[in-house]
Amino acid sequence: MSADESRIAGGTRAVEQRLLNAEWERADVATMRALQWSKLKALLEKTWSVNEFYREHWRQAGIDDIAGIDSLEAFRARVPTVEKKHFVADQDSCPPFGKRLEYVRKSGKHFQVFMTSGTTGQGQELHGETPEEQDGTAAVYAFMHCWAGMVPGDHALLTMSLTMMAGGRLEYLGATRYGLTVSPIGNYDVQRKLELLKRFKPAAIIGTTSYFGHMAAVSTDHPPATGLKALFGGGEGAGLAWYKRIEAEWRTPIYDRYGSTQSRNDHMFSCEHGVGEDGRPGMLHNIEPYVLAEVIDPETGNHVKDGEHGEIVLTCLYHTDTPLIRCRMRDVAIYHEGRYCRCGRPFGGIEVGSVSRSDDMHRVKGVNIWPQAVDDLLFGIPEIDEYLVHLVTGATGADEGTVRVMPKETAAIADAGAFAEQVREQLRRRVGVRFNIELVPQGTLPRSEYKARRWKDERAYKAGTTAAKK
Ligand SMILES: [Zn+2]
Repeated sequence: MSADESRIAGGTRAVEQRLLNAEWERADVATMRALQWSKLKALLEKTWSVNEFYREHWRQAGIDDIAGIDSLEAFRARVPTVEKKHFVADQDSCPPFGKRLEYVRKSGKHFQVFMTSGTTGQGQELHGETPEEQDGTAAVYAFMHCWAGMVPGDHALLTMSLTMMAGGRLEYLGATRYGLTVSPIGNYDVQRKLELLKRFKPAAIIGTTSYFGHMAAVSTDHPPATGLKALFGGGEGAGLAWYKRIEAEWRTPIYDRYGSTQSRNDHMFSCEHGVGEDGRPGMLHNIEPYVLAEVIDPETGNHVKDGEHGEIVLTCLYHTDTPLIRCRMRDVAIYHEGRYCRCGRPFGGIEVGSVSRSDDMHRVKGVNIWPQAVDDLLFGIPEIDEYLVHLVTGATGADEGTVRVMPKETAAIADAGAFAEQVREQLRRRVGVRFNIELVPQGTLPRSEYKARRWKDERAYKAGTTAAKK
């Protein structure tokens, strides 16, 4: 039994450490901060001199000379955050790319353009990336592949589609530049993907977490493939129970990742210790030499302590042509210092399974529900393949919630009524709200291959949105 197999089976066999850059990965935290500050200082100076968007934004916050920002602490205390609304307003005032990208547009360099999915109804953001910056993105992804035991020449299937969006294209860049042979199979249907999996017997699959669940659910072979070294999940919020279930179904270690279009990379990864165990989730280490990640209390702006929830605020240290400086991600997660993990790396980060959208919280019957909690519970039930929560306003004006549950095989559930009642009771205990449970046949629920969107809110008023921002 290999160390990975032992870990999946709950064993404690020692995990061999896989280092990409021993100097950084064995450094102490103070050395890491000093490295970050030296890169940040240069980034701030260049941005102040060439980027009108940021200069104006900072001036409005009372900064009249960037030289006054002379430490990481001063940076956190004085440089204002930026977020989607600023980017969209900038694009509207200076279409199509905004003043943020004026410098790079005039420089004559070619650049990649990534578009956000824009599902929150606030417009789609555009983010650019120059060739030099893509070198940085490739360097960041190298940690993900190295930590999962990939070696150049390994074959990987990429199940995400290549589109205007960043998800898929960045993973493709990262994997090819690491030296993997990458087959982009995102545009094929799931049966064709499973055929290609059997034909090529790749060392890894790069995709989204929910899609691995989908592939396993429709595959006639269990596990769906043999010879895999790693599944690279991520791309959406998912709970630890779900990761553990995918590892068991595939008999392959799953590695999680966190990133965004705004950062134009994934920059937090599971190390060789993986996603962790029940009761002690693993962590995603931020690649600190390239990205400065703050996890703050949105009320006070202070950095939270190890083990506390906070909102992720990002600064890319290597995007010097198309900067991203103190961007509020509206993602909430549990922060951990590097020492939380047994690997001993100085890279801090976030807890596996703890990420949720700060604006995704739903208020149902007066109770705040994080979609993550429902995901965690329902995907922890092995019979369940997919689900959809439907909220409406009932005849009395009160909230009514129905959870449509799609089992993997309806026939395998002997007593549907008892099963539904059991799900209903577990859900009530977990989130404190009674839902109607409806079992629906396999294949009837929509499946998202990019970001799972499992809540359909059609109530007369949307209490959830305002409640979340209170
Ligand atoms: Zn670690």
